[in-house]
Parts: sequence; C-alpha cells; structure tokens
Amino acid sequence: MGSLSGKTALVTGSSRGMGRATAIRLAKEGALVAVHYTSNKDAADEVVATIEKDGGRAFAVRAELGVPGDVHELFLGLEQGLKERTGTTTLDILVNNAGVMGGVNAEDTTPEQFDRLYAVNAKAPFFIIQRALKNLPDGGRIVNISSGLTHVANPEEIAYAMTKGAVEQLARHFAKLLGPRNITINSVAPGITRNGNPAFNIPEVVEQMAALSAFNRVGEPQDVADVVAFLASADARWVTGAFIDATGGTLLG
Ligand code: NDP
Repeated sequence: MGSLSGKTALVTGSSRGMGRATAIRLAKEGALVAVHYTSNKDAADEVVATIEKDGGRAFAVRAELGVPGDVHELFLGLEQGLKERTGTTTLDILVNNAGVMGGVNAEDTTPEQFDRLYAVNAKAPFFIIQRALKNLPDGGRIVNISSGLTHVANPEEIAYAMTKGAVEQLARHFAKLLGPRNITINSVAPGITRNGNPAFNIPEVVEQMAALSAFNRVGEPQDVADVVAFLASADARWVTGAFIDATGGTLLG
C-alpha cells in the first residue's frame, strides 16, 4: 500500500513536464489523480493511461486557466470525476503547477502579455486555492510551483519572475490561515528542468544550462516530482509556509 493510498489529488498542468511526472508519482503512491490540461487532450490521456497501466487511478480534466470562468470549469470536471470514483468531492492534495513563461525582454513586454502571465501563473492559483478550501479536508496539502528565478536575475523573464514572486506569497500567508486545520502549503522552486522546449535538444545549450547547477546537469521532471510527493505526504506534516529550493543547487551561485 502506497503512502497516499485513499487520497485524491489535482495536479494542474499535468499533461506534460513536471506536472506529468508529479501526477505519475502521486498515483504510484496510491492517490487517485486528476490530470489537468488545457489544449493537449492526447497528452493528458497518455498520462492517465500510463498511470492505469501501472495499476494506478487517474482521470483527465480540461480547463483553460487565466480566462474568465476558469476555476468554475476546472472544479466542474474535477468534482464530477471525483464523485464518480469516490462518491465524494474530497480533494486531499492540490498541486498548482500549470504555468507559462514570457520569453520576451522587459523592453518588449506588452501589458497584454503581462496580464496573461499574471492571470495564468498567479491569479489562477489564488482562486484555485480559494475554491479548493471547500474540498480540502483537515490535514490536506497544497504545493505551489514557483521558480528559482525569484532568487536569481534573468532580464528576459522579469514579468514571469514577478508572477512567481506572487505565487510564493501564497504559501506564507495561507499557511497561517490553514494551520488550525493542519493543512500545509509550500512553494517548490525548480531550476532549469527538462520539458518539451526544443532548447533541450541542443547539446551545447544543455551543457550551458547544466553548468548552472551544482550537479552539472539540468533537472529532470522526476527530480521535482519527488520533492512535491514528499510535501504531499504525511511525513511533511511539520513543514508549512516554506520555500523549497529544488534547483539542484543553482541558487548557490
Ligand atoms: P510545461 O511547459 O512542460 O507544461 C505546462 C503545463 O501547463 C501543460 O500541462 C499545459 O497544458 C499546462 N498549461 C499551460 N498553460 C495553461 C493554461 N493557460 N491553462 C491551463 N493549463 C495550462 O511545464 P514545465 O514542466 O516546464 O513547468 C511546470 C511549472 O514549473 C510551471 O509553473 C513553470 O513556470 C515552472 N518552472 C519551470 C521550469 C523549467 O525549467 N521547466 C523552471 C522553473 C519553474 P497543455 O499540455 O494542455 O498545453
């Protein structure tokens, strides 16, 4: 029996990347996982199939975040999926992972791009947490994915880093609010982590990115998923409001 047996989890943006790895890891521990995506249904279905092939339980939920009605749509699908499988709408673990990067320098960032980044990366997690408080039982877990960029300078991602700075505030303040219910909430900050970005197919670029880590390699999605799984577990009951550096030592300088 896994450490999360009988638990339910929602991982936003789990059709790819770190979210995918986190969904698979939580399912391996026994959780029933809602695999959330926005555009790539095939990818989300593949994650569900991978989990089921290994004897786990999962279902896909679609909702575009950062647009009006996003949280309502997300929880319609989530609660329906949970109810069908468990008979209740209890959500034990919420992982706010979905996010978008800017990829434009400060001079060229438009107000529209800024608003979009903020809506997906910061506003959506706040309102997802607000809504999830109805579903989270005492002892629940919330993990928000931030970024090492809140601690190192990158002039090409200033607006993005601002959104992640906002995300980190969620853990600090909600931790006080939710402590009496034994609900923990923490931020996990990945460093450069392999995803579908074509840059990861160029050996020279990967070498440069790897050199930023104390371990001289880029992060793998599983590196971050394992940290999230710990924070989601009973063993992490005494950790809340924390910033967890999961950058592979990149922040050491
Ligand atoms: P990916 O870019 O590989 O995947 C993004 C996921 O989020 C996908 O599942 C995608 O769904 C979903 N998503 C994107 N935009 C929206 C939206 N508007 N509404 C709903 N879902 C959306 O992610 P990564 O693994 O690279 O990153 C995961 C998290 O980690 C993000 O918050 C990112 O900012 C953060 N991070 C990433 C780093 C890295 O180097 N990769 C470094 C530091 C932090 P779909 O497949 O349907 O498009």
